[in-house]
Amino acid sequence: MKNFSTKAIHIGNKPNYKTSGDVVIPIHLSSTFARNKVYQATGGYEYSRSGNPTRLAVEKNLASLEGGKIGLAYSSGLAAEANIMMLLKAGDHVIVGDDVYGGTRRLFDQVFGKFNLTFSYIDLSGENGVSRLEKSIQQNTKIVWIESPTNPLLKISDIRKISNVTRKNNLISVVDNTFASPYFQKPLELGVDIVLHSTTKYLGGHSDTVGGAIIVNDKAIAEKLKFLQNAVGAILSPFDSWLLLRGIKTLELRMEKHQENAIIIAKFLQSHRKVKKVYYPGLKNHPGHLIAKKQMSGFSGVLSFELKASLKKTIKFIEALKLILVAESLGAVESLIEHPASMTHASIDPKERKKIGLSDGLIRLSVGVEDSNDLINDLKQALTKMKDKQD
Ligand SMILES: *Cc1c(COP(=O)(O)O)cnc(C)c1O
Repeated sequence: MKNFSTKAIHIGNKPNYKTSGDVVIPIHLSSTFARNKVYQATGGYEYSRSGNPTRLAVEKNLASLEGGKIGLAYSSGLAAEANIMMLLKAGDHVIVGDDVYGGTRRLFDQVFGKFNLTFSYIDLSGENGVSRLEKSIQQNTKIVWIESPTNPLLKISDIRKISNVTRKNNLISVVDNTFASPYFQKPLELGVDIVLHSTTKYLGGHSDTVGGAIIVNDKAIAEKLKFLQNAVGAILSPFDSWLLLRGIKTLELRMEKHQENAIIIAKFLQSHRKVKKVYYPGLKNHPGHLIAKKQMSGFSGVLSFELKASLKKTIKFIEALKLILVAESLGAVESLIEHPASMTHASIDPKERKKIGLSDGLIRLSVGVEDSNDLINDLKQALTKMKDKQD
């Protein structure tokens, strides 16, 4: 069973012919598991926090999609991130890509900062990202953390080159693969140690479950993470595990359509006279296009853009959309638009936002799998409204 969609549909979903042969794995709600021999946990299950059959099913599935050995499913992407940080101890240093998810920065600075972990935010994207990384490594550096593509500027880091540097320096590399999904990018195959997902996004895909995942190949790291996950209780619930398994079955179909629509919309926006700039790695003029082409099999479905308009008009445009919903999050079947400076990235200091190139006028669009003509018509009518009222 080798190919992506076959694995997505079948791994973890094997019918149990000894019981009822369910084609869809049941939601195992039991919080504890009975045994008839004191020294022998039935099927290896003891208590649902340390192991649950539905969660195990989705963990196996996630591992197979990333081409990894071990998968762990968490209650959210941030819970998974927190677990990775707990591998460290006070005094350790982490190098982080400068354009990471706003909540990642908040977790690192405002939570783990208190425990005397230090963080350097560096632009690790593009051809020069690797030398900037080499220059930032300190005696106490332990982890290098990147997102590629990043949120919301869609910057691309050369994952293979970065993992060559981390390997040489004995550092743990982490890639937040949320924006690409394992369908378009497999960081473990590029030499990375830990892959992280907010499964809330593409993997779940339907805006109905919050979750996170970690996939690794290294048994020692996996054991440490498993211990931490159980010790702090950062687990995905049986129902969310089931929803995630269900969502994953159509991942390939959805990702293909997300990408197809995103390319159409990126080109439409790029050619519109009211649009100043479009950020989408699938566009030839995107600075990360060539690296993306090398390490990804597709460019996924999120793009950002700026209008030739004041902030006030930009907000008017967003509010004039009728079909595209104004909401945080991304990667779902429905198109979602948001304003990073006042929504997802509001927790970042405005000066810092400016430094990393995140302008107040930037708009992020997660292109859904609706009919692309309907999406374009919605964008068109909102662009007109902005003009009518203000110009
Ligand atoms: C949403 C997101 C997260 C956080 O995940 P949650 O499931 O919301 O906790 C982390 N990284 C990226 C890139 C995200 O988009």
